[in-house]
Amino acid sequence: MNHVKELTKNFVAPHGTIQTTLQADAAFGGWEPSAEAQFFMSLADQLALESDLSDSALCQLLDYLDHPDQDHNGRVRHHLIQTAHQKRMEIYGNRVFLRGLIEISNYCKRNCVYCGIRAGNPGAERYRLDLEQVLESCRIGYDLGYRTFVMQGGEDPAHTDAFLTNLIREVRKAYPDCAITLSLGERSRESYQALYDAGADRYLLRHETADDGFYADFHPGMALSVRKTCLEDLKAIGFQVGAGFMVGLPGQTNQHLVKDLRFLKTLDPHMIGIGPFIPHHETPLADQPSGSVEKTVVLLSILRLMIPKVLLPATTALGSLDPIGRELGIRAGANVVMPNLSPLEVREKYDLYDGKICTGDEAAECRKCIQKRIENAGFAVDMARGDHPDWRN
Ligand code: SAH
Repeated sequence: MNHVKELTKNFVAPHGTIQTTLQADAAFGGWEPSAEAQFFMSLADQLALESDLSDSALCQLLDYLDHPDQDHNGRVRHHLIQTAHQKRMEIYGNRVFLRGLIEISNYCKRNCVYCGIRAGNPGAERYRLDLEQVLESCRIGYDLGYRTFVMQGGEDPAHTDAFLTNLIREVRKAYPDCAITLSLGERSRESYQALYDAGADRYLLRHETADDGFYADFHPGMALSVRKTCLEDLKAIGFQVGAGFMVGLPGQTNQHLVKDLRFLKTLDPHMIGIGPFIPHHETPLADQPSGSVEKTVVLLSILRLMIPKVLLPATTALGSLDPIGRELGIRAGANVVMPNLSPLEVREKYDLYDGKICTGDEAAECRKCIQKRIENAGFAVDMARGDHPDWRN
């Protein structure tokens, strides 16, 4: 811990930081945190004030919070989460936006090593929704109050521009007051433009990892530079853009994660999706351990503080690893949940990882269940479109 002493020595805490910290953390019974804990708590305060920290400070914070002994770092973790919660309350209040997720195809030409619907998995039972099925899912969703539809799928060669623009136009025509979000992988700039012109508002494309070599390890035949170009194109066209990454991919280090944070800070997307890696039994990563819920929650808090206005989902993967994972995420700064609206008969086939939740519940059931969870956690559901505050302003 010599490096910590070194950093502590040179660090000037923002005025009043330690005092506020002690008051906010009365939950810890008033015992004096160690000098080391105080230092890391003041890093969280600095992050809240300046929306940034140096890469080395971010890495130190992640290293410190990796310590398995909660007595050792529990107070710092609690303080970070509380600070992120306060930031979210300042910007969004206690509201959580709901988006209806429609999984429109599990055909995929890619071979992402972690993913259960990769082309190389002959065990995946493939399906593709047609226009009528998508419109029916939207209708059910609209009646349940949803005003955002997220259409996600593998990179399906049948999803030509003609097919997708027709689909988007039909949904736009039937539901002019709803936001249309797409999450369909990499396409050309011309194609993204056509989808935007047809009426799509938002596009989710996780960068997955911001390290070129690490990216190449998991995405045969793909390149991070192409992914980045897609994100830049989407932004330039005028979409609200989402990026993000998985937590706990085999071999991932805190240096990798700091690169992800730095990439996101620079890109400044409207939405950020992060979730723990969860192995799928028919992929090359079948025997690898899952990512950590605690670490995902810490990263959600850091992201809320680094990019305060971002729309930040508590993801299904987080809820799949821990029965209250999404609630933990919401308490740590997340403000979006994306319940499943896909037709019941295809739910199990959109099988990205093992143990995915909500594959057997009717859309209405999911809607009720998530509302109860959000309210039990002390928050309120918001069914508005929920655009990013700066979009088109
Ligand atoms: N084809 C689209 C959608 C991919 S699925 C695209 O390329 O953007 C949506 C997200 O699920 C992916 O971006 C990935 O981060 C996540 N995912 C895939 N497999 C996963 C796994 N095994 N564990 C956790 N998340 C996974």
